Amino acid sequence: MTDLHIGAKIINPGSSKENKTGSWKLQIPVVDRKKCVNCLNCVQQCPENCIKAKDDKLDYIDLNYCKGCGICAHECPKKAITMK
Ligand code: SF4
Ligand code: SF4
Repeated sequence: MTDLHIGAKIINPGSSKENKTGSWKLQIPVVDRKKCVNCLNCVQQCPENCIKAKDDKLDYIDLNYCKGCGICAHECPKKAITMK
């Protein structure tokens, strides 16, 4: 019989904020504010919910949780985000 390791369990629900997964990334998204039209498509598309909006405008990207996947850059209709 195989023992199961405790790593497969979430012991404390709601603890994901403690895991700053941003250290996984190899590239960071950089926004060209001159090109951005504040459509907020990137906010909706980010799988990590780390692109923040304020007053219906793009505010900032929380790099503590960004994994560098590049989806925001790919989905921006104005090509205002570049992975660097
Ligand atoms: S998707 Fe592009 S244009 Fe739209 S808010 Fe994000 S960076 Fe700006
Ligand atoms: S690179 Fe991926 S995780 Fe980082 S802000 Fe863009 S969509 Fe979100």
